[in-house]
Amino acid sequence: MQKGFFLKSYNQKIAIQNPDYSLYIKREDLLHPYVSGNKFRKLHYNLQKAKADDQTTLLTFGGAFSNHILAVAAAGKENGMKTIGVIRGEELRSKILENPTLKMAQEFGMVFEFVSREVYRSKQETDFIQTLQQRYGKFYLLPEGGTNALAVQGCEEILVEADADFDFVCCAVGTGGTISGIINSSKVGQQVLGFPALKGDFLTEDIRKFVTQSNWQLMTDYHFGGYAKVNEPLIEFINDFYQKFQLPLDPVYTGKMAFGVLDLIEKKKFPKGSKILMIHTGGLQGVSGMNALLKQKNQIEIQFYD
Ligand SMILES: *Cc1c(COP(=O)(O)O)cnc(C)c1O
Repeated sequence: MQKGFFLKSYNQKIAIQNPDYSLYIKREDLLHPYVSGNKFRKLHYNLQKAKADDQTTLLTFGGAFSNHILAVAAAGKENGMKTIGVIRGEELRSKILENPTLKMAQEFGMVFEFVSREVYRSKQETDFIQTLQQRYGKFYLLPEGGTNALAVQGCEEILVEADADFDFVCCAVGTGGTISGIINSSKVGQQVLGFPALKGDFLTEDIRKFVTQSNWQLMTDYHFGGYAKVNEPLIEFINDFYQKFQLPLDPVYTGKMAFGVLDLIEKKKFPKGSKILMIHTGGLQGVSGMNALLKQKNQIEIQFYD
C-alpha cells in the first residue's frame, strides 16, 4: 500500500523465564492503524497490479469480522478506488452498525453485497462472478483472505536480512499466503512453523503450490476447535500475555499461534539455545467484535488494560 506506509515493523524481545530459549515477536501489527499487518503485505503488489491494469474498483469476499474485508476497504479509500465486499450471511445486512468491522469498512466507503452461506460457497464460480460484473461493472478481484501469487510476493518482505540468525520463525495460518511468503524468504537452516487457526487438511497442499523450499511444518494442535472459535483458556492466555508483556494478541490468529509457541517451549520441543521469532500478523481490529460475542454468552472477555 503506497500511502499510509508510515509505521515500521520491528522485533521486540519477550522476556520469558526460560534461559534456554530467546523469544522475539515481529510487530507487523504496527504497520498500519487499520490494515492488519499481513493483509497490508498481501495487498501491496495487488494494488500496484490493479492500478497498472487501470482498474478503479476492488471486489473481494469475507465473513463478518474479516481482517481482509477491512484491509481492502481502507486500501481502497487510501488509493482512491471503489471497494465492494461480498459478505457471508444475509442476516448481517441489518446489523452493519452493530458490527465494528463492517461499520468501519462502510465508513471507508465499501459497498456490501450480502449473500447466503450457500451462495457464498459458490463464490469462485464463473456464473456468480458474472452476476457481480453485471451489477458492479469491471473490477479487480481479490480472493477471500487475499491470497494469490502477488500476495505471497508481498509476504516475502516480512523477513529481512537481520532475521537470518533466528532458528525458528512462527506464524499463524489462515489461507496459507503469509506463511508461503515467509518460507520463500527464509534462509537455509531456518525452520518455519505454521499454526493453523482452523481445521483442515487442504492447507499443506495450498502452501506447496506457492513455496520454493521444504523447511516448514504445520503445528495442527492449536486451532481451538476451528476458525474464530475460542475458549476460556485461550482468552485467559491472551489476557495474561498482555499483563506480562504489554503486548496485545488477537483471538483468531496470533493468540492461538503464541499459545502454541509457548506451549512448545514449555514442553521443550525446541532444541536448547533456540532463537525463536513469532510474527505478529495483526488482527487487533477483530477484538471488539469478539468481545461483543463473548459478552452475549457471558464468557470472559479480552482485556488490554492493567
Ligand atoms: C489473515 C490473517 C492471518 C492468516 O493469513 P493467511 O495468509 O491467510 O494464512 C494471520 N493473522 C492475521 C492477523 C490475519 O488477519
